[in-house]
Amino acid sequence: MICPYCRHEDIRVVDSRDSGNEIRRRRECSACVRRFTTYERVQTRIFQVVKKDQRREGLNTGKLLDSLFSACAKRPLPVKTIEKIGKEIEDEIMNSGRSEVSSKIIGDMVMDHLRKLDRVAYIRYASVYRSFQDIETFKNEIDALLHPEPIDSEMENQLSFLPDTSLGNKGIRRRGRPRKESTPTT
Ligand SMILES: [Zn+2]
Repeated sequence: MICPYCRHEDIRVVDSRDSGNEIRRRRECSACVRRFTTYERVQTRIFQVVKKDQRREGLNTGKLLDSLFSACAKRPLPVKTIEKIGKEIEDEIMNSGRSEVSSKIIGDMVMDHLRKLDRVAYIRYASVYRSFQDIETFKNEIDALLHPEPIDSEMENQLSFLPDTSLGNKGIRRRGRPRKESTPTT
């Protein structure tokens, strides 16, 4: 096992809890002293991820977490929240009742979760792991990022890097600007 933060290989277990069907271990990196959690459980059936080139391999939860952490790097998100998403995705996959699932579907699941959590992380993930289908999708996402709809306070914190004016009541409203009509080309 390697440290998800600094890649160091010397990890010690600081706490271990057995809930019957899984063992949760709190681990600490001996180099950077940061902590993370791992879960160990019985795999009741063979489960395979189908890669783009049709090769099959087991679900690599470490890789899944790696991709989440790099998408969420330097975002105001607690490590626990990111770990929780990793576990939710893993559970979704494992409880889907399938014996195999494509890596694209896993990517979609990650995007669904990140989209709800943090738009910047979502766009990062989408641009690295799934190139946007078309420029229009990308533009829509950027627009949504720059012109958020009325949002709850949690979302607002995530958008705090935007200039204050764009979040204020005055700056954000477009007043009476005439809507451009599309004229049919004949
Ligand atoms: Zn470390």
